[in-house]
Amino acid sequence: MKALIWQGTGKVGIETVPDPTLLLPTDAIVRVSSTAICGSDLHLLDGVIPSMEKGDILGHEFMGEVVEVGSAVRKLKVGDRVIVPFNIACGVCDPCKRGLYSACDNSNPNHRMAEALYGAVSGAGLFGYSHMYGGYAGGQAQFVRVPFADVGPYKVDSGMRDEQVLFLTDIFPTGYQAAVNCGIQRDRDVVAVFGAGPVGQFAARSALMLGAAKVIVVDRIPARLKMAEDGGAETINYEQTDVLVALHEMTGGRGPDHVIDAVGLEAHGHGPGALMDTAKQRLRLTFDRITALRWAIMSCAKGGTVSMPGVYGGLVDKMPMGAAFAKGLIFRMGQTHTHRFLDPLMRHIQGGDIDPSFVITHRAGLDDAPQLYQTFRDKQDHCIKVVLDPWK
Ligand code: NAD
Ligand code: ZN
Repeated sequence: MKALIWQGTGKVGIETVPDPTLLLPTDAIVRVSSTAICGSDLHLLDGVIPSMEKGDILGHEFMGEVVEVGSAVRKLKVGDRVIVPFNIACGVCDPCKRGLYSACDNSNPNHRMAEALYGAVSGAGLFGYSHMYGGYAGGQAQFVRVPFADVGPYKVDSGMRDEQVLFLTDIFPTGYQAAVNCGIQRDRDVVAVFGAGPVGQFAARSALMLGAAKVIVVDRIPARLKMAEDGGAETINYEQTDVLVALHEMTGGRGPDHVIDAVGLEAHGHGPGALMDTAKQRLRLTFDRITALRWAIMSCAKGGTVSMPGVYGGLVDKMPMGAAFAKGLIFRMGQTHTHRFLDPLMRHIQGGDIDPSFVITHRAGLDDAPQLYQTFRDKQDHCIKVVLDPWK
C-alpha cells in the first residue's frame, strides 16, 4: 500500500510498504477513505517529539471502512464505516473506566520510554505518533491496523459526508474538551483562545456553543483570524497590537475569565523559534518558546482557568508561576479523551449546530501530502486544514 513515511527530521515522503495485518484477535483493519494533517504532526516533522524512526507511518486523524476483524471483535463487522479516535484505549483499565481514555494503562507499553532522559512520561498509545506513544503505524496510508477495535472505532451513518465527521477523530473533541475544561458560566464569561489553527478554531466555536458571552481569538495570520471571526469570535492580531493591553481593554479591565492555549510548544514570538540542535535542548523549552502560555497566564482574570490543549513535552522553564499563584488560577491540560465526546459532538453535527468541514482549506491525494506538510507548517497559501484521500 501507499503511505506517508517519516524519513528524518523535516522530511516526509510517500513510499510503498506492506499492508498491515491483524496481530491480535481484538484488532481490525480499516481501509482509509479520508485522513488529515494535524498541527501535532508538525511536532514530529520538526523532530520536537523524539523517538521517531525512519520508516514510521504518520497520521492520527482518519476514517474509513472496516475490511477485516479479529476473532475477538464483537461490535464491528466488515463493511462498517467508522471514524477512529487518535488515542488508542483498552476500555477496561482504571483510567479508561473513569473516562480518561488518553491515559489508558494498556495501550502504550513505552509510556516511560523518555522518563530517564527528559522527565517525560507519555500517555495512551497514539496512531502515527512516535515510539514514545507506542510506535503504532498511522492513518496517512491506504490501510491501518486498529487495536482494541471494539473500543475506539465509532460507526457513522452513510448519510453523512466524510468531511462532516472526520474531525471527530481529534480536533473537534480537542477544541471542545478545552472549552469544557474552562467551566464556562453561560452568558457571562469571556474566553480568550491563543492560536487560530484548527484546534483554536474548534475551541472558539465550542466555547460559543457552551454559552461564552464573548470569545477573543489571538493569532497573527489574517486568514485564520478571519475564519475565527466568521465563527462569531472577536480577534487580536498579536503582530499589530499589544496582546495584554488589548485583552485588558476588551474585557473592561478584568481580563478574560478563561484562556485556552491552542498553540503549545512551538509558539511563535520573541524567541529563536527555529529547530534546536540536540534532543536535550529540544525538550527543554525556554522562556522564548512559551509566548502563548505566558500571555495566557498573564492575561487571565483572577480565579480563571488556563486550559491547555496545545501540546507540551519535556521540561518548560520560566513559567510565570508567581502570577498564576497570586491570581489563584486553575490549570487544565492534556491529551483529549476523544471517546468521551463522540456521542455529544455527533449530536451537535446532526442537529446542525456546527459543520466541522468549515476548517478545510486544502483537499488532495496522498502523493501531494509531503508538499502540503510544508505548506501547512509554513502557513502558506492560507492553509488551515488539509484533508487527504489516500486513493486519489
Ligand atoms: P497549528 O500549528 O495549525 O496552529 C497553531 C497556531 O498558533 C498557528 O495559527 C500559529 O500562527 C499560532 N501561534 C503561534 N504562536 C502564537 C502565539 N504566541 N500566540 C498566539 N498564536 C500563536 O496547530 P493546530 O492543529 O491548531 O494544533 C494546535 C496545538 O494543539 C498543537 O500543539 C497540537 O499539537 C495540539 N493538539 C493537541 C491535542 C490534544 O489532544 N491535546 C490534539 C490535537 C492537537
Ligand atoms: Zn491531531
